[in-house]
Amino acid sequence: MHAGADQLDRERLARLLDSERTRFAELHPASRRMFEQAQASLLAGVPMSWMSKWAGGHPVYVDAARGATITDVDGNSYVDLCLGDTGAMAGHSPDPTVAAVQERLGERGGAALMLPTSDAAAVGAELGRRFGLALWSFTLSATDANRFAIRLCRQLTGRSKILVFNWCYHGSVDETLITLEGGRPRAREGNVGPPVDPAVTTRVCEFNDVEALERELAQGDVACVLAEPALTNIGIVLPEEGFHERLRSATRDAGTLLIIDETHTISAGPGGCTAAWGLDPDMVTLGKWLGGGVPVGGYGVGAELAERIEADPNADYVDTGGVGGTLAGNALSLAASRATLDEVLTAEEFAGMTRLCDRFVAGCEAAIAEHGLGWSVAQLGARAEYVFTSPEPRTGADSAAASDPRLEDYLHLRLLNEGVLLTPFHNMALICPATTEADVDRHTAAFGSALAELVGR
Ligand code: PMP
Repeated sequence: MHAGADQLDRERLARLLDSERTRFAELHPASRRMFEQAQASLLAGVPMSWMSKWAGGHPVYVDAARGATITDVDGNSYVDLCLGDTGAMAGHSPDPTVAAVQERLGERGGAALMLPTSDAAAVGAELGRRFGLALWSFTLSATDANRFAIRLCRQLTGRSKILVFNWCYHGSVDETLITLEGGRPRAREGNVGPPVDPAVTTRVCEFNDVEALERELAQGDVACVLAEPALTNIGIVLPEEGFHERLRSATRDAGTLLIIDETHTISAGPGGCTAAWGLDPDMVTLGKWLGGGVPVGGYGVGAELAERIEADPNADYVDTGGVGGTLAGNALSLAASRATLDEVLTAEEFAGMTRLCDRFVAGCEAAIAEHGLGWSVAQLGARAEYVFTSPEPRTGADSAAASDPRLEDYLHLRLLNEGVLLTPFHNMALICPATTEADVDRHTAAFGSALAELVGR
């Protein structure tokens, strides 16, 4: 493995970053004004803390968003490859989802009813068809889907711990905010107010390390493994040949349940990696993309597990037992989800999105090769990510070691100033049904010119 980022002239990088910051300030006076005004009423000047994680020092304020395009309050328009970090995988405000929302909220009326409409069962049936798990329940976020799935696994197995892979991210779930440091489990750096040391609740090992996984499971106290089928929150780390078969057999042998989190990996196709790779989890969790921008999450289980859940006389599932929420499963979220599944994120659209992503990856790889950088590009269907090392990392720790915050800031800001948005977290790009070849080519051109600047050509 050669560390591609080490080839760069650091002083040059610092100069380039400064000049992109100046350009950002010139291009975004109205956004800056709004950000300054917001300091008086919003913690950190943003509605939610992550929104301050943009390389220009403040976020751009949005005027309008449609399909794969965002327009900001200064009149700049962007090819949006961030897509709300998968919350807008369906594109911004797709027509069928907008129509379903208007009908539910406007014409028929009623969003927060604490009563079902027919949309919920239709969404459950469609998710069952896609993911192979028959019975579904809904939440407001993927975080909550994971939290509830973990509780169910603890209840079912009578075991206290969960296992996650190093550098995973599954939302703000207390048990998952853990990493390995020098081989030892530690609260993730910066973890805010953990209720207990996460080593009490969680075992952690490297993705793709089957021996370590089996060693941890052999302790006999792990209720469930919570795993993305490929890590997507520390770059993209793909599973090695045979990893998922071993994960499945090791969890079964240990009496441990397996939860597959498809919140990001839906990019692999209409049924995520579960369908694309023929996985056989006990539970699937998801969120973000399902409602076409309207908040919703959910988890699915097979019929046999559902029977075990329902047969348990000691669990209070219908009141304050810890699984549920007033707005969870609300009529508006499910109307939006039904339309998004049936008419937007369809199998045909995934095929086109993946082809466009192939084009994105080819463009990146050509630019990287042209400028002689030892970087690589990982792809999972309609999602791709460049990483400053080659070959692609095989564990979360390898991928974390290749990160380079300053270089990321430069690339993000340079691309933004050229009218292309990447996710503010690492270098992730997403393709939605509305993304065009011209959008992808705009990124390729901007990325190529950024690399030329970086290497001084
Ligand atoms: N699971 C995965 C794999 C995620 O990447 C995320 C968020 N990035 C979540 C769950 C949590 O999603 P949310 O913050 O929308 O609850």
